[in-house]
Amino acid sequence: MFKKVHIRLTLLCAGITAIIMITMSLCYLYVSETGLYKNHYQSFQSDINTITTNLEQQSVISMEWLSKMEAQGKYLFYVLDNGIPFLYNQLNEPEENPKRALLLEESLDAYQESGWNSPTNTVSAFTSYHFEFEFTSASCDSKFFGSVIRMGKSSSTLEVIVLSSLESLELQIREQRIRFVLIDITAILLLGIFSWIFTGKLLRPIMENQEKQAQFVASASHELRTPLAVIISATECCKNAPSERQEGFLKTISQESIRMSNLVNDMLTLSGSDSHHFLVQPESIELDTLLINVFEAFEPLAKEKSITLSILLPDYALPLCLADPERIKQVISILLHNAISYTPNHGKIDISLSYCKSHFSIAVRDNGIGISDEEKKRIFDRFYRAEKSRSTKDHFGLGLSIALEIIKAHNGSISVTDAIGGGSIFTVML
Ligand code: ADP
Repeated sequence: MFKKVHIRLTLLCAGITAIIMITMSLCYLYVSETGLYKNHYQSFQSDINTITTNLEQQSVISMEWLSKMEAQGKYLFYVLDNGIPFLYNQLNEPEENPKRALLLEESLDAYQESGWNSPTNTVSAFTSYHFEFEFTSASCDSKFFGSVIRMGKSSSTLEVIVLSSLESLELQIREQRIRFVLIDITAILLLGIFSWIFTGKLLRPIMENQEKQAQFVASASHELRTPLAVIISATECCKNAPSERQEGFLKTISQESIRMSNLVNDMLTLSGSDSHHFLVQPESIELDTLLINVFEAFEPLAKEKSITLSILLPDYALPLCLADPERIKQVISILLHNAISYTPNHGKIDISLSYCKSHFSIAVRDNGIGISDEEKKRIFDRFYRAEKSRSTKDHFGLGLSIALEIIKAHNGSISVTDAIGGGSIFTVML
């Protein structure tokens, strides 16, 4: 399922970015090509102005000048004298260069189609007009700018047609387009790779979370099944048992129900923390007083196992601590409960409090079975129980994960280290 979502997200991410990029490229190409065309046209117009001035200065149009100009390879010239092709063209054009003749025809057609006529048909010796047009030559398979310069020369009207091929401009535009297509293709490929990695990274925590949730549900169902099975069988036995034995079954049912209720409460706490409904109501509290209260509550339990439980508090006045008293009590209770559970009879547990650099440090030390380095990495995981502690019936492996969530909600930290001489030390920093 996640693979499909991954592919779809990648396509979506890369697709949208590619569309934006292509649109921007097209806009850029449009602006750039329009600019190139405009520049080319302006330079053609200014060249025509220069040519016109030059022609005006010549009393008789010089063949040599025209040939020189053509030799530069930029322009083609045709001269019409009173509408009849001038000698210059006749020499250059017919059999040897049929393409050139065709081009002249095409330019004349385009010129006539443009419908231009100089302001007056009777052009005086001192006036000249020119008109620019554009046409596509089928014979040369290229676009041309054309200009007709009309001027009067010794009682005849001369028309000089100047043609400039747009082949180089078209080539420049084509090259620019190819460059953009290549850039866009490379960018789309890179975008695809980047989107794949990026969406993969985005999805990883969701995938891990889903895996954890599935594991949580599986472990929870497993843990709930045991007390439920006991309750069902005890109820069945209770029905048929003689009245003096019924009390024993009812006691079992009650114990297992309490166990189930505790487990459900623990699970609710954790799911509340997952859905960010974990309420922490901080207030200014005296941590030492809170520790004494929890210590006193656990004294009887420690006594049952003949464990020496002691508390070490600083002998100076402590500042108030901003924390949720009920939640902190819950954490200390979890740590003390574990310490008592995993410390053999006649063991030793002490709880201490210290304050340094605006941090409170609460440590619960025992000389119990201890925790291996391998287990230390996992004991804060949900439903994790070390092999040697599985026999303890009222432990589900949720205590430390709840403690961790509570301390995280207080922006604090919880850690475990080995105690010198065996056992463990759990330290909470607030
Ligand atoms: P549990 O409810 O099983 O105690 P916890 O999350 O509180 O679950 O603890 C996880 C595991 O960490 C326990 O199963 C136990 O193996 C180990 N553990 C916790 N506290 C201690 C301790 N004080 N000494 C040794 N092992 C401990």
